[in-house]
Amino acid sequence: MSWLQVLGQTFNPLIRGVVRAGKAAVAATAPVASKLMQVARDTVDELARRIQRARGDAGSEQEVVERQLQEVNARIARLRKAYRDNGRLTDREKAEWQRLKARRAALIQDLDDLEAGSFAEDVVDPENKYQSTTVTEQNAHLIDMLTGQTTYGKKCRVCQRAMTLQWDRRVGTPGIRDFFWGCSGWYIVDGSGRHACRHIERLSNDDFRIFMDVTRPEFQMKADEVRRRILDPGRRQRLRQALDAIRAQNKASDIGLSHYRCPVHGESLRLQRKSASNDDFLDEYFLGCPRWLPQNQGCNFLIKLKSPGRITGVLQEAYGIDAGRVLDG
Ligand SMILES: [Zn+2]
Ligand SMILES: [Zn+2]
Repeated sequence: MSWLQVLGQTFNPLIRGVVRAGKAAVAATAPVASKLMQVARDTVDELARRIQRARGDAGSEQEVVERQLQEVNARIARLRKAYRDNGRLTDREKAEWQRLKARRAALIQDLDDLEAGSFAEDVVDPENKYQSTTVTEQNAHLIDMLTGQTTYGKKCRVCQRAMTLQWDRRVGTPGIRDFFWGCSGWYIVDGSGRHACRHIERLSNDDFRIFMDVTRPEFQMKADEVRRRILDPGRRQRLRQALDAIRAQNKASDIGLSHYRCPVHGESLRLQRKSASNDDFLDEYFLGCPRWLPQNQGCNFLIKLKSPGRITGVLQEAYGIDAGRVLDG
C-alpha cells in the first residue's frame, strides 16, 4: 500500500463529518478548520516517521487504481451487453457481476483514500497556505469552482449516495443564493426516465465557510472579475487553447480530471467540446463519463462548464498555480 493511501486511510476516519470537495473543505467553521489542520499535521508527521520512506506521487498512484477501475467497468459493460443481447445471464455471469461491483466499490474507496491523503499532504505543506474563508456574493466563484466536483462526506439523507454542489441551471452566473446540494442519484436514470433520487438541500450558513488554499490566484479575484476575464472575447482564443490542451491530454492518456468523477463508475471525467459549437462559450465544453455510448447504451453522466467559476475550477485542477496565467494578460 502506498504512502498516500495509508495517509488517507488514517486521515479519513479522523475527519469524519468533514465535507471535502477537490482540494477544499466545505462547512469549515473555525473549529472544523483548526481540527482539520491539526489532524492533517499529526497524521502526516506520524506516518512520515513510521513509514520512513519516500512520499509517493499522487498522480501515478491514482492512475494505477484508475486503470483497474477501467478494466472492471469494461467487464461490467460486457456483461450488460450480454444481458441486453440474450435477455438473460447465466448463474456464473450473475456471480461475476456481483464480484465486479464489489471490486468497483473497493477501488472507488481506494481513490477516496488517495484523494484524502494528497489533501492532507497539501494542507500541511507549506504551512498556513490553507485558511478558512467565508464566501459572500463578491467571491461566489469560490463555491462555483467546486460545483460538479466530487465531494466526500456529504451523503444524501434519503438514499446515502454522495451529494454534489450544484446551482440553478437557469442562472448564468450563480450568486450565493443559487447554490444547493443535489443527490448524485439524480443522474442515475432507469429505462422509464425515472431518477433514482431527486433529493436536494439548501446550503446552510456553515456551508459558506470554505477551507482552501488561499494562495491560489483566483482567491485574490472578485467574482465579477473572474466573470469578466472568462467571458472577455479577447481572451477567448487563449482560453480555448488552454481547454483544448486539457482535452487532448485527457484523450491521449485516457485519464480525465481526478476531482470530477462519475458517481456510478468512479472514473475521472474527460473534458470534451461540443461538436456543433455556437457562439455561446458557456455551452461549449463539458466533462463526460468515459463509459458514454451512443443511443443511451452507456453512461450519460456529464458536467457542463456553464459558468465562469466552473471553467476556473477545471483550469485550476489542470494547471494549478499557472491557471492564473491563463486568466491574466
Ligand atoms: Zn439521494
Ligand atoms: Zn459513468
